[in-house]
Amino acid sequence: MSKPEVPLIAAQNLRKYFPVRGGPFGLGKQFVHAVDGVSFEVAAGETLGIVGESGCGKSTLARLLVGLIAVDEGKINFEGDELGRDISHQALQRGVQMVFQDSYASLNPRLTIAESIAFGPKVQWLDDPQGRALRLMEKVGLEPSRFAARYPHELSGGQRQRVNIARALAMSPRVVVLDEAVSALDKSVEAQVLNLLSDLRDEFGLTYIFISHDLNVVRYISDRVLVMYLGEVVEVGPVDAIYARQAHPYTASLFASMPSMDPDRRTKEPPLAGDPPNPINPPSGCRFHTRCRFAESICQSKTPALKPLLGQSDHMAACHIHEVASGHSLARAGVPA
Ligand code: SF4
Repeated sequence: MSKPEVPLIAAQNLRKYFPVRGGPFGLGKQFVHAVDGVSFEVAAGETLGIVGESGCGKSTLARLLVGLIAVDEGKINFEGDELGRDISHQALQRGVQMVFQDSYASLNPRLTIAESIAFGPKVQWLDDPQGRALRLMEKVGLEPSRFAARYPHELSGGQRQRVNIARALAMSPRVVVLDEAVSALDKSVEAQVLNLLSDLRDEFGLTYIFISHDLNVVRYISDRVLVMYLGEVVEVGPVDAIYARQAHPYTASLFASMPSMDPDRRTKEPPLAGDPPNPINPPSGCRFHTRCRFAESICQSKTPALKPLLGQSDHMAACHIHEVASGHSLARAGVPA
């Protein structure tokens, strides 16, 4: 009997709270609610983009997924096996690799490029670490004869990020988590690295979790998009559906902040105003109610569940009145935005 198809990654109700120091007794009983009840799935070969303002919890979520920090509550399943129960963190770390934003800090300045790429496979006793490193340098567009013996400080930011991508691939992962991996690059280099990531995904059958604040970049590379606000998921769906119509008012405001040269793509939604509330003491009910221009009394008292939009099982939003609140529906209903 064939095994039922399971998602490559399934996160269920993940929570991560960080204690903060305060009060006269040192470590107080206050916690930053960095990730608060997040659930999602990623299919094999898919790219899931994760977007949201700074401090929304997207980087903490990335670190939970690669096992760099432990979850406080919730489960992470990798191909149906539960992390910590059926598979160890060490086994997960081979299958799930991460590329960080800071290409320089990610590399050991004392190791040459080839040594850096070969380091992981050597520690994990994989076959032929050196040969693997040289082959991957070719794949990411760094000619081994020119770059293998160089040190990180001798490379540009784009070249260093190529090294970091090769380092991640050296472990033959199934999933690569890219945390703002192209954000620090010049636009022309960013485009080259994005194209490289697309090619590598196709060639090696990789699955990406792509975290970025740049909505244009996320649109280019992602199949689905997950939007986070103050530690929670507020909207998730296929990239085309979300870019055509944002169901959650937060997503709509986020998109309204996106610059566009195309007059047809300009939105009438006002951009997001004010700062996010304090994550130590998030607002009751819908966490966005303090900044939402559609908020009603129910929004302060009841937390909205993430629900599919009418007729779209794969596009979900967490808003009590998203059918009314979204700019699209307002326009349709003739309500002034
Ligand atoms: Fe705004 Fe209420 Fe929807 Fe939250 S639930 S986004 S406050 S309309």
